[in-house]
Amino acid sequence: MARIVMKFGGTSMAGSERIRRVAGIVKRQQDAGHEVAVVVSAMAGETDRLVNFCREANALYDPAEYDVVVASGEQVTSGLLALTLQAMGCKARSWLGWQVPIKTDDAHAKARIEDIDADALTASMAAGEIAVIPGFQGVSPQGRVTTLGRGGSDTSAVAVAAAVKADRCDIYTDVDGVYTTDPRIVAKARKLPLVTYEEMLELASVGSKVLQTRSVSLAMKEKVRVQVLSSFIDETAPAADTIPGTLIVSDEELEGSDMERQLITGIAADKNEAKITLTRIADRPGAVASIFAPLADSNINVDMIIQNVAKDLGETDVTFTVPQSDLTRAQAMLEARKDEIGFYRMIAEGNVAKISVVGVGMRSHAGVAATMFKTLADRGINIIAISTSEIKVSVLIDTDETELAVRVLHTAYGLDAAA
Ligand code: ADP
Ligand code: ASP
Ligand code: MG
Repeated sequence: MARIVMKFGGTSMAGSERIRRVAGIVKRQQDAGHEVAVVVSAMAGETDRLVNFCREANALYDPAEYDVVVASGEQVTSGLLALTLQAMGCKARSWLGWQVPIKTDDAHAKARIEDIDADALTASMAAGEIAVIPGFQGVSPQGRVTTLGRGGSDTSAVAVAAAVKADRCDIYTDVDGVYTTDPRIVAKARKLPLVTYEEMLELASVGSKVLQTRSVSLAMKEKVRVQVLSSFIDETAPAADTIPGTLIVSDEELEGSDMERQLITGIAADKNEAKITLTRIADRPGAVASIFAPLADSNINVDMIIQNVAKDLGETDVTFTVPQSDLTRAQAMLEARKDEIGFYRMIAEGNVAKISVVGVGMRSHAGVAATMFKTLADRGINIIAISTSEIKVSVLIDTDETELAVRVLHTAYGLDAAA
């Protein structure tokens, strides 16, 4: 007997027929003798629809009321799944965020989980009842509904798994595992049986939306065993316990496995970046700080930064990227401080994409970046900016070249599946 937390994403929960399929998968795990808790997303498209209603009601919406609205999508699917399980003869009940409770801070629309009181949950699971928990939602110290940011149900699932000390957290989605790159973009992408926490963290943070970044850092910190697998299966599919999907493992576990590893594990693309260039900034101490301090104060995340001094002029251009959703705010803030920062012109561009290659193998092998630059150059793809970490190289390119870049890099690093 094991204790399993299962999470089903929006596509898996989209409509009665699919919810019945999900209930069947859940029942199978219970029939196999496991204690089960299930975390569910809203039906696909529902959260977008609710966010739009908020925008229409009030462009400058109050995040606390936004949370009341958007958390409802998960309330609906959790109730529907409990009803469907009951119709199949299972004992099941829903536990809303405030009922568990899943306690968060009060940063509405991007709340962080602080604590989960799992006593009532574990007692009900031990009594053979399937606990169905809406993902994405929690409760603030003031007792108000909060949500965890887009894609947050993954984080809910991992947090519940840590709280109930689950043996495994199975994240069911519309693909059957983590691939070398988005299988919807590159047909030759290969499924990875194992990925390390660190690699998954990098992949998620640079744009592989298969798992929310915070869910991976939480799993790493709490040592939760996470498997990504497909909910689009029938009764003949191998059981989840045989790990048909992708298992996220520690570095040590990976080293212990005898599988052949490529130098690069995966490639991700992120089209949600925007680039800002400030020209002719004085080359003096404090100039750069005067740009980035106010951005940080407004919670705008700066990613890539390039600064190069024109030696003869004593002036410099500074280029950096911010999330596209923050571009307008960043521009307004910088324009308001134009005299203080002392720039000549601000040039903003939204049509850039970040392409990243990730792999722990990079630690011990040189030449990964060189291969990337040469491969892109051979296709005439211009690199606007570069950033690196110990296990990642990212480049900024024109958005129109995203798919081509991912495809040629996938081939160059030997990741293509055999035809
Ligand atoms: P869910 O609704 O189940 O949370 P998401 O849409 O958030 O599902 O995540 C699954 C999607 O992630 C897949 O349909 C796929 O297009 C995308 N994806 C991006 N990169 C990868 C990758 N490296 N491996 C697998 N899927 C990926
Ligand atoms: N429904 C939420 C969203 O679409 C949370 C999730 O599905 O993970 O962002
Ligand atoms: Mg998701």
